Amino acid sequence: MKIVDLKVTSVTIPMEAPLRWSMGIETGTTRGIVEVHTDEGIIGIGETYGGNGIEHAIATAKPFVLGLDPLDTGVLMHRLNVFCIGYETAVPAVVRAGIEMACLDAAGKALNLPVYKLLGGKTRDFIPFGAYLFYRYKDATGKIGGEADVKSMVERTKQLVRDHGFQSIKFKGGVYHPYEEFKVLMALREEFPDFPLRWDPNAAWSVEMSIRIAHKLMASGVDLEWLEDPTANLEGMSQVRQAVSIPLATNMCLVAWEQLAPGIRLRSVDVILSDLHFWGGFRQNQKMIAVAEAFQLGIGMHSDRELGISTAGMLHLAAASPYMTHDVDSHYHDQVDDIITEPFVYKNGGFDVPNGPGLGVTLDPEKVEKYHRAYLEQGAVNEFYDPYRPNWIPALPLF
Ligand code: MG
Repeated sequence: MKIVDLKVTSVTIPMEAPLRWSMGIETGTTRGIVEVHTDEGIIGIGETYGGNGIEHAIATAKPFVLGLDPLDTGVLMHRLNVFCIGYETAVPAVVRAGIEMACLDAAGKALNLPVYKLLGGKTRDFIPFGAYLFYRYKDATGKIGGEADVKSMVERTKQLVRDHGFQSIKFKGGVYHPYEEFKVLMALREEFPDFPLRWDPNAAWSVEMSIRIAHKLMASGVDLEWLEDPTANLEGMSQVRQAVSIPLATNMCLVAWEQLAPGIRLRSVDVILSDLHFWGGFRQNQKMIAVAEAFQLGIGMHSDRELGISTAGMLHLAAASPYMTHDVDSHYHDQVDDIITEPFVYKNGGFDVPNGPGLGVTLDPEKVEKYHRAYLEQGAVNEFYDPYRPNWIPALPLF
């Protein structure tokens, strides 16, 4: 079986209400639907970020992909990794990930095997996710969102737990002064005393502020699963880590293969959040997780507004990763729609691992067309600009 064509289609799907974070807002998600066509008529689907830059990167990768057997993902990644050394922007890791995903989907369909079989088999059937809690602006109707204080944030969490069955919480901060957000955290702990609880300000704090907040947390006795990226870069995180005893996690300072050795040497973090896209695909995540296991670092999984194809990929990777003991992140409950025929539905705060061939999900062509039109009309979502705060400059640290 040989690859005869490689395509990408950008789509934009809105959020129910704008999500706030340290660097701006997320009004939706722009994703690239990757297709690998084979000479046997099988089409493998993958997903990555969308937009002009991604479409250009797919075109750059195309000559290196055509003619390959989709099962030869090791050869594929070796070819595309040429671009990693000094030319990361040519075919970024996120694009390599989307192509590898489509190849494994095609291979799984050809062999009538789910992707997790190609990754070593599944060690569990069900993957638990956390309640990803954001401060939100109101939607256009004024009826949804608008959480901005302790009471509304706790109510929103209760709603997420009630609707989807989540059993852990991730609180996205970095929006208000950390002392204000601390009150939300304490209220969440009181309302959900047994839930694993994370706080993620996306590097909004200086090293000094991070240490002060961590001391406040320790003095309060609140039991945090982790503090996620309180401050920027490996050196800053290492300084915080040496000063406090709260576990630190990251999806910002240790997100690429070349950051792994220095991050471990500096003891910058306790938990690495895997990411199917940032790390460049399934195989690269499996390699990273093996290194983390050797050095006794914990493993979670990051989310950046995936649709159903990548969500399926995350489930296959999590199922094949017994060392990943933390609940997975997802924006899925905030996104209004999907481009697969049977969108995932939360059951007890998680999803069953798909068992069909390949990724086990099917594209809905009408939805792809609808949201591709939305992309053409609106362009890519820009999460680094907050129109509600036009003078806001997301230069970190903010506090
Ligand atoms: Mg994070």
